[in-house]
Formats: sequence, structure tokens, C-alpha cells
Amino acid sequence: MGTRLIPQLRRFRWRTTYGFVLAVVALMAAAMVYLTVQVQAVERAEFEQRLVRQAQSAAADPRLLQQWLAGPEALAGELADLARLLAAQVTALTPDGETLARSDSDLSLADLSLPENLARAPEVRAALAGSTGQSTRPVEDGAPPAFFVAVPVGEGDALLGVLHFVFPRASLEATLDRLQNVILAVVSLVTLALAVSIIVFSEWHGRDLRRMTHVVERIAAGDLDARILLLTRGELGALAKAFNRMADKLQTQIKKRAREKDRLNTVMHVMTDGVLILNRAGEVKLINPAAARILATSPERAMHRSFMQAARDHRIAEVWARCQQSGQEEVAAIELSPTRFIRVVVTPFLKRAGRGYLVMLQDLTQVRRLQTIRQDFISNISHELRTPLASLRALVETLRDSALDDPPAASRFLDRMEVEVDALTQMVEELLELSRIESGQAPLRFNPTSPHAVIAPAVDRLRPQAERKELTITLEVPHDLPLVLVDAGRIHQVVTNLVHNAIKFTPAGGAVTVRATAEPDQVTVMVEDTGVGISARDLPRIFERFFKADRARAVGGTGLGLAIAKHVIQAHGGAIWAESSEGRGSRFYFTLPLADAPRSPAERPEADHGQAPPTPPLTIP
Ligand code: ADP
Repeated sequence: MGTRLIPQLRRFRWRTTYGFVLAVVALMAAAMVYLTVQVQAVERAEFEQRLVRQAQSAAADPRLLQQWLAGPEALAGELADLARLLAAQVTALTPDGETLARSDSDLSLADLSLPENLARAPEVRAALAGSTGQSTRPVEDGAPPAFFVAVPVGEGDALLGVLHFVFPRASLEATLDRLQNVILAVVSLVTLALAVSIIVFSEWHGRDLRRMTHVVERIAAGDLDARILLLTRGELGALAKAFNRMADKLQTQIKKRAREKDRLNTVMHVMTDGVLILNRAGEVKLINPAAARILATSPERAMHRSFMQAARDHRIAEVWARCQQSGQEEVAAIELSPTRFIRVVVTPFLKRAGRGYLVMLQDLTQVRRLQTIRQDFISNISHELRTPLASLRALVETLRDSALDDPPAASRFLDRMEVEVDALTQMVEELLELSRIESGQAPLRFNPTSPHAVIAPAVDRLRPQAERKELTITLEVPHDLPLVLVDAGRIHQVVTNLVHNAIKFTPAGGAVTVRATAEPDQVTVMVEDTGVGISARDLPRIFERFFKADRARAVGGTGLGLAIAKHVIQAHGGAIWAESSEGRGSRFYFTLPLADAPRSPAERPEADHGQAPPTPPLTIP
């Protein structure tokens, strides 16, 4: 557009300018013709009237009458004077039309050879009838026209004769030519002046128009700051002002829209739900990163494809097809794979927003997982409670039925009942503790502590148990490790739990090693065993509450120990994880923060304020 507008404008301007100029020339030419004709007519009439008046006053001159009466010779002399004076040929005619006398022909009019008998000339006939006659005609064929006047001459009522004048029109023609030339010159000058002013005016306005066009082109090319700087007033100035106002409005609107688009983009980008916008035909017109992630594609690949091609799953595309048919919101929950669930919501746009569809994809995998964990938790807890309660019930029934009569047996039953009650109590206590840690109600008291001071006692306490099971237990925790910022009691509990598990799941003859190593900003503790190990399927779940591998069920335990350990370590700002290969052994790691580690204050637990550190929000792993 930018390259074509200005030449177009120029062409248009030249066309209009030349149109104007041509119209002015035509009008002026017509005016000139009219003016010339009118002026010449007036001039001619005036010329003739003057000559008639001169002829009449000559005829009324008493001296002429005197000479007329004196005889033809005297009259000829008088006529000669008159002819000189009036630059005409003068003839005196008798009342019969006979020539009485004539002025000399040696004047400039010598070439005028009049017919001998003038009596039939129209002007003479009029004079003989008593009034002044006049006529314009050539003196002879082919000669230029002359002006003829005949005036009656007489004393009182008696007509003496007719005085006949022939005036050449050369002077009139010369005057008329001069007049025509003057009119032509004036009209040409005015026409020229007008044409020049039209061109200059058009050029001047054209410059403003060109400037305006240039600005319009700049705005169209995206330069929204371009404005028209016009000094002219009038219509063009008003147009420029109106245009600038429009540009201001446009700029504000565009900026507003850009801001809104930016916001929308940001929202779309950070949204965890997938969003797609489809046009009427179901083509993808917008897709956010979350949607691309859920559909396992990229925005570039999905854009401008059909929804079916982008989604690559007929069940998702079907939701859109249903919405297209019903014209109403359609919802479906779809299991993409055994571990991935999504919810698809397709809504048609309101008509006002143009035909199209909004597709929302919500990843329900996490929600489903949490649901499963919650369900597992309930069934686990019921299961864990049912076993000891069932055996308690059996013991009570046996006791009531028969054993009361046999005191030694009754005492054995009571011992076993005590064991079951202890197990139940321990489980309830561990659950309560886990819940307290999770909800941040169990305050941790952080103190700079030597890792050896906190790990060694826990290992030493379990050493007899390991030895009973014929396991070698090795402690590799140097005394000079940097201090860690911990609640010693809690970490003692974690180490006890890990070492206890290692002993529990390692058959006789195996080995358990506890090692701690210093790193730049933390100390990593490892508890390693050569036991049964954990299957790859179970490994991601061992930190869940109540989780127990199948083979562990026989060994006993609540399945809460690792869940508690995980929360304790997380409350310290550390991490805990496990590696294992089934049948060969396991390694559990956890990290502890250094007492003088360069950490951000937000991460750093408060030292011994008796206050709980910020704990992660309640999650049921
Ligand atoms: P429990 O009190 O039952 O030991 P935990 O939470 O401490 O509960 O452990 C959860 C499960 O993790 C155990 O039942 C067991 O299956 C597995 N586990 C934990 N430690 C080990 C280990 N060192 N070797 C093999 N399996 C282990």
C-alpha cells in the first residue's frame, strides 16, 4: 500500500487540476467572444449616432442654406469645406434626387465613386420623405462597407433638397480591432492568472495531502506515533485534526488490546489447565503450553491443524463433535493411559464472539492419584486395625470360654493380648505423630549439632539387635564433619527407623553400613544393607503411609516409619530417597543442612525458637 498511494494521489490531483484549468479557459473564451460582440455593437451604434448628429447639424447650418440659395458653385465650395471637416464625401441633391453639387473628390475618399443618381438610395428616399435616412453598405461591389446618411435641407416647410454624406468606416474598423485586441489581451492575462493560481493552490493543497497520506502510510505500517503536523486552517486543517484524534484513539485502543493480549497470553502460559480455541470448522487457532503438554504435541505442530489431528485421540475429538452437534457444553473424563486421566470440556462460543469452540483439558492424573492414595489409606488403616482387633477378639473369646479356669494359660493369653494392644497403641501414636508433623503442630528445636553425636547413639542402641540376627553393623561417620542444624531427637528417630528397617529386611550374615559424608552445603547420610531389596514397582511408593511390600507383611510393622522419616527430613529442609536392587540390598539417603550453610533465610529453619519451621502443605504421599 505504502508504495502505491502517493503516485495514485498525484495522478488524481493532476487530473482535477487540469480539469479546472481547461474549464476556466473555455469559460474565459466564451466570455471574450460575448464581450467583443457586445462592445463592438455599442461602439458601432455610437459611431453612427455621432455621424448622424454631425450630418444633421451641418444640414441645419444657416451658412449652408445661404450658399444653397446662392447657386451650385457657391454650394460646391461650401460642400468641399464640409467634406474636409467631416472626412466624408458630401453631395447636395435637389428634391427630385438630381445632383446639385458635390464636394471635391481629391480627399481620401477620392476612390468613392458614387452612382450618378442617388435618388433611389434608401437613405435618400427617407430624407425626401422628411426624416434623416441612414444605411450601411459597400459603395460598390467588393468594396468595404461605408456609412450613408441623407438629411433633408429646407427653410421652414419648403424642402430645398437633400444633403447626402458618405462616411468611410475605416476609423471605426480600426477602433473595433483595437478594442478586440484589448479584450483579448485582458482576458488572456486573467485566464493565465487564474490557471496559475489554480495550479499553485492545488500544489499547495497537494503538499498537505501528500503529507497526510505519508502519515497514513506510516500508521498503516505500524508506526502508531506518527501524527500530521499541519499549519493550514480550513477544511484540510480540520481533517488533519480529526485524523490525529482518530490516530490517538486508535493508538490507545491498540495499546489497550496489546495489554489485554499480553495478560491473556501470560494467563494462558502459566495456566496448568490446557486451553485450545477452535474455529467453526474445528481448526486449532490457539493452544497454550499446558494443552500441548497434555496432548503430547507442540503448539507449532498443533496450530492450524484440525482438532482431531492435534488431539490424536478419537475420544477427545468426539467430545468436540458432540458439542458441535448439540451446541451445548460437553464434558468427558478420559483415561489416556492407565496412569493418565484428563477431563475434557468443550464449550461453544457465544454467537457474538464469532462461531468457535473453547476446549479445556484438565489433567486429573494427580487428583486421581491422590484419590487412590486416600482410598488406599482408608483400606490400609482398616486392614491394619482389623488384624490386631480380630486376634484380640479371638483371645478374649477363648479366655471367656475356657482359659479362665486354667490360670497359666490365661496369663499367656493376657500376655499376647498385651502385645496386640501395644502394637495398636504404637500405630495410633505413630499416626498421631505423623499428623502432628504434617500439620506443623510438632515444634522442631533446631540446634547446631555434630552428625556423629546424633547418628552414633541410634546405631549403638540397635547394635545388640543386629548382633542377635548375626549381622555386621558398621558406622562410618567421622567426628570432624561440619555441624548440622537439626532437631537431634527427630533425626535420632529417623536414623533408628532406617537402621531398624535395614536389620529387619536383611537375612542373617548380611551387613548394614551407616555412612555420612560432607558436601559444600549439606551432609548426606546413607544407610545401606545387603538385604532383600525393594522391587522397582514398590520403590516409588515406600514413603507412602501404610505402604508395605507384600513380603514385608510377615515381618510386622505399621508401614508408617518411612512416611514419618520423610516428613521429618523435609521439615529440616533436606531430602530423602532410596535406591535398591531386588535381592541384593537397599540404600537409603537423606540430607541435613549445615549449621552455617549459605542458604536463603526463607529456607533456613529458625534456630531453637521452639517454633515449627515452615512445613510443606499437607500431602498424603
Ligand atoms: P514398616 O514399619 O512396615 O517398616 P516403613 O515405612 O518403615 O514401614 O517401610 C515401608 C516399607 O518399605 C516396608 O514395609 C518395606 O516393604 C519397605 N522397606 C523399608 N526399608 C526397607 C529395606 N531396608 N529393605 C527392604 N525393604 C524396605
